[in-house]
Amino acid sequence: MEEIFEKLLMLGNDVFVNEKMEHHTSFRIGGPVSFYVIPNSIQSFIETYKFLSEKMPLKVVGKCTNILPRDEKMDISVISTEKLNNIEYQNNRIICESGVSLKKLCIEAMEKGFSGFEKAYGIPGSVGGAVYMNAGAYGWETAENLDYVIAFDGEKIIKLKVNNLDFSYRSSIFKKEKKLIILKAAFRYSLSEKEKIRREMLEIIQKRIQKQPLEFPSAGSVFKRPKPDFYVGTAIEKLGFKGFTIGGAQISEKHAGFIINLGNAKSKDVKEIIKVIKNKIRQEFNVNLETEIEIW
Ligand SMILES: Cc1cc2nc3c(=O)[nH]c(=O)nc-3n(C[C@H](O)[C@H](O)[C@H](O)COP(=O)(O)OP(=O)(O)OC[C@H]3O[C@@H](n4cnc5c(N)ncnc54)[C@H](O)[C@@H]3O)c2cc1C
Repeated sequence: MEEIFEKLLMLGNDVFVNEKMEHHTSFRIGGPVSFYVIPNSIQSFIETYKFLSEKMPLKVVGKCTNILPRDEKMDISVISTEKLNNIEYQNNRIICESGVSLKKLCIEAMEKGFSGFEKAYGIPGSVGGAVYMNAGAYGWETAENLDYVIAFDGEKIIKLKVNNLDFSYRSSIFKKEKKLIILKAAFRYSLSEKEKIRREMLEIIQKRIQKQPLEFPSAGSVFKRPKPDFYVGTAIEKLGFKGFTIGGAQISEKHAGFIINLGNAKSKDVKEIIKVIKNKIRQEFNVNLETEIEIW
């Protein structure tokens, strides 16, 4: 283990040993992983990925806003893209490294009068995480603006055009081919007025503040929408589950599609709530729910 630690440092990473995932997840939940590694450049990311993938199971994360790690120790390494946060502008494209936050992308685009990202404002993840799960809100999806992705396939860097990325509702090729890592994403935009873009972004963030329990740690909507006309939050509310609590986890009073951490929630508390809700929704509506959040 010492040898791995030294090598990770030599590759130019910030390295945390036995690091609790609760320090990184938006849920503020998650037990320790063997190494939590933060590369400082794409080059060191690739070298680190190659090195670690031969040593132990490995996961890549962005801003950890869509994951629920277990409470127990995990013998894995986690590589974070959080320091890969450069944005370039080339050939009418905004090219973001995968760790760029959607917030930074939205604000920079607005400053330049580039429209197309307004509805993404307030999604708290990274560009890599958004491409991976085709994040979306208010009728907008990440794939809409995407032109191509620069990815790492475990051996080499490749360019993948949007048509080859198998996008669908909250899914992409990256979800199916776990070995493909998003390094950069190039987005299209249209030209508009800065003030108009800013107004739309403000409207969107106000809607979020009104409807979502942003004052509590969470990972956003817990479940995928099983069909276009089935609103999971509304169904959970109808069943009287708002405020339903197990341990430190609670179905939000404000938005029943969210599970929040009241302060000391454990992964097992959240998983128990998920189980109860899945069973109840199956019984009452004959609908099978799948989680949108990723459970480790
Ligand atoms: C308050 C709140 C509101 C939210 N609202 C929305 C919303 O409106 N719409 C929505 O879609 N989501 C929403 N989310 C969920 C979340 O923000 C998005 O899913 C976001 O895209 C996840 O990005 P991330 O960087 O946090 O990914 P992470 O949680 O770090 O990772 C999620 C998955 O993506 C993979 N991944 C991350 N980066 C890469 C990469 N570079 N290459 C390959 N795989 C990668 C990880 O391996 C993991 O499987 C919300 C979350 C919260 C907490």
